[in-house]
Amino acid sequence: MRLILFGPPGAGKGTQATAIVDALSVPHIATGDILRENVANATELGNRAKQYMDRGDLVPDEVVIDMIADRIAREDARGGFLLDGFPRTVAQARALDEVLERDGHRIDAVLRLLVPDDELVTRLLRRAQEQGRSDDTRDVIENRLAVYRAETEPVLGLYRDRGVLHEIDGTGDISEVRERVLTVVRSLEPAA
Ligand code: AMP
Repeated sequence: MRLILFGPPGAGKGTQATAIVDALSVPHIATGDILRENVANATELGNRAKQYMDRGDLVPDEVVIDMIADRIAREDARGGFLLDGFPRTVAQARALDEVLERDGHRIDAVLRLLVPDDELVTRLLRRAQEQGRSDDTRDVIENRLAVYRAETEPVLGLYRDRGVLHEIDGTGDISEVRERVLTVVRSLEPAA
């Protein structure tokens, strides 16, 4: 299964990803996590990405596209994967299609977590206190949500047109959302 977990910052993607990868035994590939690891290790990639991440802007497409192409080419992702936080622009979605098509693969499903804006801000401010992520301040949060609306939401149209978009209510307890997500995951059939 080749899946994408989609939703704005604070929708619970990281939390729900754990349940999905456990159920399917596929790797969880989160661009935000890979980028933060590179920042922490002060790699060339990390040094390039940091300024964008600190502002809540997107890291340039070519940087993340190359990073994801390398990651999904690895052995553990051959049989499938769960992408979290990618694609975030239409250009990234098209590049992903090209990479997959080379091997005759495609995305089986996109799971979109729906959470109202006021709830997202509350959750992100709570995470700021609990985890101290440097991009969880109010100004940066507002920019990340604006960037999501402007650059990331348009990606949904591509997948909706293909009939692979599944919308899931992301409000309520973590366990309730998990049940909804797993119900959709169990209903999926691999495409190719
Ligand atoms: P996340 O942990 O998914 O919220 O990502 C944290 C930050 O990493 C984002 O605010 C962006 O600056 C950067 N980032 C993560 N994924 C991407 C992506 N697919 N394209 C561009 N920037 C990204």
